[in-house]
Amino acid sequence: MSKRPIPYAKHTITQEDIEAVTEVLRSGLLTQGPVVPLFEKLLAERCHAGYATVCNSATSALHLACLALDLSPGDIAWTSAITFVASANCALYCGAKIDFVDIDPETSNLCPHALEEKLREAAIRDELPKVLIVVHMGGLPADMESIHRLSRVYDFKIIEDASHAIGSKYFKTITGSCTYSDITVFSFHPAKIITTGEGGAALTNRRELATRMQLLRSHGVTRDSSIMAQPKDVKWYYEQIALGFNYRMTDIQATLGVSQLRQLDHFLAARNSIFDYYNSELRDLPLKLPIIPRGYFSSCHLYIPRLVTDRAQEVRDKLYSFLSGKGIECNLHYIPVFLHPYYKKMGFRTDRYINALEYYNDSITLPLYVGVEAEQDYIVGCVRAFFRS
Ligand SMILES: *Cc1c(COP(=O)(O)O)cnc(C)c1O
Repeated sequence: MSKRPIPYAKHTITQEDIEAVTEVLRSGLLTQGPVVPLFEKLLAERCHAGYATVCNSATSALHLACLALDLSPGDIAWTSAITFVASANCALYCGAKIDFVDIDPETSNLCPHALEEKLREAAIRDELPKVLIVVHMGGLPADMESIHRLSRVYDFKIIEDASHAIGSKYFKTITGSCTYSDITVFSFHPAKIITTGEGGAALTNRRELATRMQLLRSHGVTRDSSIMAQPKDVKWYYEQIALGFNYRMTDIQATLGVSQLRQLDHFLAARNSIFDYYNSELRDLPLKLPIIPRGYFSSCHLYIPRLVTDRAQEVRDKLYSFLSGKGIECNLHYIPVFLHPYYKKMGFRTDRYINALEYYNDSITLPLYVGVEAEQDYIVGCVRAFFRS
């Protein structure tokens, strides 16, 4: 029996995870040991990528990705209007400007048509983005082939913010393989699919990008004589050749990551069946249920139905309070980034994001995590009771 309140998300830690972490604590190496490169190797293999660089959060990974793609002051980056603020903040860290693309009302992902229209207008004003950060909302991949085609025409780089989406697939490609992007980022925050406590990763097939991200992850310091300015033939010598950060992941975290990665397929299967069960049990209610289009495999990170009644926002808010009163803690993913006070003062035109605003008014995130199965009939019953009343 799980405890109430029921959260919207929750990690799964097994005995196997606990034993692995206990072992690393006894090993004598807590950081910069052998497990970080092992986790990187396993991630790259699992996702069919050339290189993986793990770090202390997805936010850090997004920052490293932007830096590796040379996003600089004077440049412009775009991301989806509906995402966590970190997808936009990473561009600001680099001194670049940020702008937003409206979402597709069916998938809640960045809309390729809205993107194309915005690119056409931006080309006329000579304000094209250097980097586009695509978000796979709730674990459903965005329409990457269409977005990639536009990147060829308008010459921009692509970062996939796949914080929600490890294990997902877009037709024949696995998210992280960077088939349609330069870099893909994952998050290992406890609310996400697999966890390292805090943590993230940046995957790429381009060696120079991986080398750059690894350098900047650790102060811009190198022990590789082939890239030193003044190499010396002594073991203690190292050089700082760029201004980097300490964005490293510990071996403690990486050990948990290795153990969690082994359970990924199990997590994905459980999440998909929870998602399907909601969709079958809620289908006759005045809700627009989330879809997984043909050819897509979602990691089912979030379950987000939308209200299709009149005064949807009011009904949504009532549903949220009603469920909260029943011990079910829902959530809202996400407040459009341009509505946050920090972004608002940059003067975005909200009339450009009709779909995002509508989504913000009528969406609600129901609990979805491995283990919620025991409470799912209760949750469904409460949602149904709300609409009866
Ligand atoms: C969670 C999340 C992030 C940030 O991940 P952290 O690992 O917490 O830094 C970035 N983007 C999206 C879309 C997220 O959901």
